[in-house]
Amino acid sequence: MINCEKLKPFISNEYRNLPESRYISIFLIRTTQSEAIFRTEGSGEGCSREIIADNDGKSVCRSIISKRKQIAVERREGRQLLRKYNLLFANKGEIKDDTVCSMNRNNPCEKCIDCMLYGYAVGAGGAQRSRVISDDAFSLLPFDIISDKKTFNALYETGTMRDPVTKKPSSSINEDEYIIPGAHFLDIEVLKDVTEEEFIYVIGNILRSKRYGAITSRIGSVTNTIVSIIGSDTELFSTLEWINETESDLKMSNIEHPQPLDKVIISAKKSIYSLIPKIYGHCYVPDDNKKELEDILNTVKQIYSDPKKVEEILKKLTNSYPRNEGPKK
Ligand SMILES: [Zn+2]
Repeated sequence: MINCEKLKPFISNEYRNLPESRYISIFLIRTTQSEAIFRTEGSGEGCSREIIADNDGKSVCRSIISKRKQIAVERREGRQLLRKYNLLFANKGEIKDDTVCSMNRNNPCEKCIDCMLYGYAVGAGGAQRSRVISDDAFSLLPFDIISDKKTFNALYETGTMRDPVTKKPSSSINEDEYIIPGAHFLDIEVLKDVTEEEFIYVIGNILRSKRYGAITSRIGSVTNTIVSIIGSDTELFSTLEWINETESDLKMSNIEHPQPLDKVIISAKKSIYSLIPKIYGHCYVPDDNKKELEDILNTVKQIYSDPKKVEEILKKLTNSYPRNEGPKK
């Protein structure tokens, strides 16, 4: 399916329980398309941020999208398809609403693509390592430049701040911090020992996910742009190293908001090429002039435009896992 011979050594032929040093790194730029609020669970008010050193050793405060939040959004995207094609199961017995595999309910089915790929752990001892590894995504520009504060006052239906019945003034005036539209975040998702079908599934989840803020809110629209896909027999470098390198390159031309996406892509790619030679391992880096990445993404797009094809691939993948009577090794 994926027409890329050179990536094949880094893709497994079939699911196996033991690690085999096959890594696929997906390099992403996540760009906010609306106001967005990224908080770490349980952290209370305010957007997540962290102070880190840049390439010159200077401290920079960057906004963060937590890895947990990113992966949870993408898993939910994929699980919608699994539900649609009846590919979510119950661990034991009949599949009912309260027994079917679900996120955050501690009832993984241990059989579906989501469980097998993104991992699970149950109290009783069953566990599957996650084969989708991610760091927190950091903003390219400092937090101060890409954030703002807004006062929200909840008006009553009368359009005033006074309760129409009790006549008391409303007390719900909040100040909320948010990330402005057009902010770029860099992120690397690493797939470990995945099969071709699993690779397609993860790419689909990334490119089909559109909202990363709090899911109940109407804000938080994000577009993901895949900048490169690299195969290797070891992990490459951290998201932070990539950001620092990209930022240093951009500093020569554009450090103000908004940074045009095409310029960011050029610097982000240049930084990958400058970091790769430091790796102790065998890597395959697509040639920028040969449209190899475009071919992969077009293939995935074609598959997802055909529901029959999607269903067929997801069913084949589900059947390939040992607990679903796939190969036993
Ligand atoms: Zn499951």
